[in-house]
Amino acid sequence: DKYKEGLSKTRNSFSSKINDLVARYRKVDEDFFEDLEEILISADVGVATVMDLIDELKMEVKRQNIKDTKEVKEVISEKLVEIYYGEDDESVEELNMKDGELSVVLFVGVNGVGKTTTIGKLAHKLKEEGKKVVLAAGDTFRAGAIEQLEVWGERVGVEVIKHNAGSDPAAVIYDGVQAAKSRNADVLLCDTAGRLQNKVNLMNELSKVKRVIEREIPGAPHEVLLVLDATTGQNAMSQAKTFSASTDVTGIVLTKLDGTAKGGIVLAIRNELQIPVKFVGLGEKVNDLQSFDAQAFVYGLFA
Ligand code: GDP
Repeated sequence: DKYKEGLSKTRNSFSSKINDLVARYRKVDEDFFEDLEEILISADVGVATVMDLIDELKMEVKRQNIKDTKEVKEVISEKLVEIYYGEDDESVEELNMKDGELSVVLFVGVNGVGKTTTIGKLAHKLKEEGKKVVLAAGDTFRAGAIEQLEVWGERVGVEVIKHNAGSDPAAVIYDGVQAAKSRNADVLLCDTAGRLQNKVNLMNELSKVKRVIEREIPGAPHEVLLVLDATTGQNAMSQAKTFSASTDVTGIVLTKLDGTAKGGIVLAIRNELQIPVKFVGLGEKVNDLQSFDAQAFVYGLFA
């Protein structure tokens, strides 16, 4: 399926390295763990997360008195899943939505990560679920962003609320909220600008947009989704830190997983930032957005 296909780069690289490792070492010793550490780091699992994992593995190996590297393989996938879930055991993180009321989802992230594309794909997904969706073209800064969102709106058959390029994003979002209310929409998806050249201005703009939404609808925005490009690896991690420091990010969309062998970034984000990954982008087409399922992801890596 799409999920398996989209993760094939990560899976091929990861599972062949792990199989190699298991074949090379028969005994579980310090050198084995060192090589394993390297494989995990090269898959962008993240240094801190890898350290946690190796510690856990060593303890488990001792506890179960494991000698054979083949048996460790099993424990690695169990521990990776545990690392992802932490305390809670929800398999798939659903979008927080208000049934029968307007739910607002705000998208944030730097230019080029796939924000506009993700909004288009999600609009399609929600529409297929029978929801009435409205889009607000809040990225008034990037050339072409408004037109791009309109193209998606036409493609999936949902209305796009827009102003002219360069206008105040908060005003567009305000109009988006009013339009969504008057059309009795279920969901409003809001695009925002992602220029990083002026971080302070961008963060102020996002706060202003968020305040407009909060004022118009108590309890909204119901989700603030940070979109990150998986192919940028640790750069994506630092973007996550920047955005979550100034906005309450409620979830991550990790795009372009199909274009990287370093899908381990999913685990690092969850473990190091405590933010759930809600969707993954596995291609450029309308059906290429999938809910993220950690268990399927981790077991897929070893398939
Ligand atoms: P924005 O600046 O954040 O709004 O980014 P865009 O939505 O314009 O996306 C930038 C580029 O990434 C476009 O060419 C998209 O088609 C591409 N893109 C977005 N998501 C994915 C994905 O999941 N996989 C792949 N391969 N490409 C993607």
